[in-house]
Amino acid sequence: MNYQVLLYYQYVTIENPEEFAKQHLELCKSLNLKGRILVAGEGINGTLSGLVADTEKYMELMHADPRFKDTLFKVDPAEKHAFKKMHVRPRQEIVSLKLEDDVNPHELTGAYLSPQEFREAILDENTVVIDARNDYEYDLGHFRGAVRPDIRNFRDLPQWIRDNKEQFMDKRVVTYCTGGIRCEKFSGWLVREGFKDVGQLKDGIVTYGRDPEVQGDLWDGAMYVFDERITVPINRVNPTIIAKDWFDGEPCERYVNCANPECNRQIITSEANEAKYVRGCCEECRNHPRNRYVKENNLTTEEWAARLEAIGESLRPEIVAN
Ligand SMILES: [Zn+2]
Repeated sequence: MNYQVLLYYQYVTIENPEEFAKQHLELCKSLNLKGRILVAGEGINGTLSGLVADTEKYMELMHADPRFKDTLFKVDPAEKHAFKKMHVRPRQEIVSLKLEDDVNPHELTGAYLSPQEFREAILDENTVVIDARNDYEYDLGHFRGAVRPDIRNFRDLPQWIRDNKEQFMDKRVVTYCTGGIRCEKFSGWLVREGFKDVGQLKDGIVTYGRDPEVQGDLWDGAMYVFDERITVPINRVNPTIIAKDWFDGEPCERYVNCANPECNRQIITSEANEAKYVRGCCEECRNHPRNRYVKENNLTTEEWAARLEAIGESLRPEIVAN
């Protein structure tokens, strides 16, 4: 494999994030990298893809900067780029938690747990394991028995915890996320909220999956990633599929976006069901005049109508008339 995907973050003071972002974009472009980097006064959060030599050069240059000398890069081999473009964006925060009173992880954060310590925590019945990601990430894969916060967005997590506090207040609480960045602030926030014993999986699920000892044990399903790969495997001991096809509930890990450009909802479905339902998440989306599945596959109006008829629906009269 000639490519690598990098995932990293660093909480460190960056003066003038706007200027930093501009220069960093030039650097990334000069190395033919693609991906997304967020820069703020509090640090940097990035995921990138590129040729092995280019990504190695990037890590070398970053480590030469005193601010990023200890930055841990999680590196995955890949067959091609995992992104289409290169963006470096200045932001208020490098992960969006939007607390009224922000948390600085250098001052306040939960205890860091190694993969071995985290595995023990999962098996301990007096410990509550909280998934600090979004619901659709959980549904693809998660640690066995982990609590699934009912949230579409990470920034809604604090309110969800407050609403459900009595479930966890007297227990040890440990949290995890993809690469560790979301837990840095979230676990600090839990400490500030009065939780007594708070831990976080250091460097996230990615590192847990790669650890030679735990090898992703007790992870069910796959892991969602925010690049074109969409899913990556974690458990090398006893891998399973837990995600279900949107239409028939069969085990499936294939993500597509709803073909209605105004909906765009991410759904898990097989190629066969994608065709059967013209990639629409609901009747309205299957009937949308600009349905992208219909366009991409050059379906005639008759073919489109026939597919819907086969599932007991019918094409809107105004589309048929056109
Ligand atoms: Zn839809």
